[in-house]
Amino acid sequence: MIYLDNAATTKMNETLLDVIKDFSCERFYNASAGYSFALSNSKSLNEARETILKKLGANKGDVIFTGSATEANNLAIKGSIREGKWQYIFSIGEHPSVYNVAKEMQESGREVKFISLQKNGQVDYIELEEFVNEKTRFVSIMLVNNETGSLNDIAKISKIVKSKNPAAIIHVDAVQGFCKIPFSLQKWDIDLLSISAHKFHGPKGVAALYVKNKNSLKSIMAGGGQEFGLRSGTENLPAIMAMSKCCQGVDVEKNYEKVLNLRSVFLSNIDLKRVSYVKTESPYICSLSFEGVNGETLMRALENEVVIGTGSACSTKKSGNRVLEAMGFDAKYIKSSVRVSFNAYQTEEEVRKAANIIMKTYEELYERLK
Ligand code: PLP
Repeated sequence: MIYLDNAATTKMNETLLDVIKDFSCERFYNASAGYSFALSNSKSLNEARETILKKLGANKGDVIFTGSATEANNLAIKGSIREGKWQYIFSIGEHPSVYNVAKEMQESGREVKFISLQKNGQVDYIELEEFVNEKTRFVSIMLVNNETGSLNDIAKISKIVKSKNPAAIIHVDAVQGFCKIPFSLQKWDIDLLSISAHKFHGPKGVAALYVKNKNSLKSIMAGGGQEFGLRSGTENLPAIMAMSKCCQGVDVEKNYEKVLNLRSVFLSNIDLKRVSYVKTESPYICSLSFEGVNGETLMRALENEVVIGTGSACSTKKSGNRVLEAMGFDAKYIKSSVRVSFNAYQTEEEVRKAANIIMKTYEELYERLK
């Protein structure tokens, strides 16, 4: 089976098992306890923070460890809400862990604005500029869209927002970009950023929120006050140490070039006269539409040989596709769409073979359904 649903999750790097075992069965102490074994774990925890800050290219700020990026996104948004007549801005293309929080805020009476998407999947920068004003408290725009691979220009976004309101807080959901797309926080004037280990070959159930100024965030959960009082609950040290080791070992630039090539090999084996795809910047994610065949039907027909997705894993139970709709695609196109997503450890041969199997299966289904 060839796995091409790496945007949903990735296979964990097996070399991390040793770290997980060490911090689960040997150095299992609670990092918040007072004895020396625990203090040593607390030191390891802080080293993991430093590793992630370095990988982000941050020269200031902190890292708050959480149990998922869903939690990191909730903390970023809800922890930034303040009483008063503030305005909150989100892109319409955000992952449900941001979008559904924004919807809840809107329903509870807060002023929430959604920025439209351009045809290429990036946010409408002109609309963003129109929206930002002195009441803007918070702006959340993702780096890479999880369904299409569209890449938002975060440097441009931060310039637009901070030039109109320097006090506005900017949050970036970088879950599909961290350890995949080369970037450095030194080049972006942003305040909060979410990452998730299982998207870059780390363990599941561990993620982090970068915070430039931890005093500007409020905790959304009461408890023992771990993570600078911003995320109570005993830290999942085995998973945190594995996430840190994992990101340390990633050569982002090299992998990016490799995946650019994989995507191009894949697409050169797809009949693009019959199959459409959205041209986007991240080579890791490719959204395709197979005319005349339902995307879900194609996915199921392929699954013993090639695993692909039909969009975000969280949205498979829902009909329609908010992101593709916002980009202007019609219902027919959306119904026939699938998502193919690569990882840097796959080979040209694998993706070529996958593309051929996908085309053969598509043609068979097309003939049968016509
Ligand atoms: N944000 C984006 C862009 C994602 O793709 C995902 C996962 O699909 C998440 C957030 C949620 O991550 P997690 O699975 O760690 O909650």
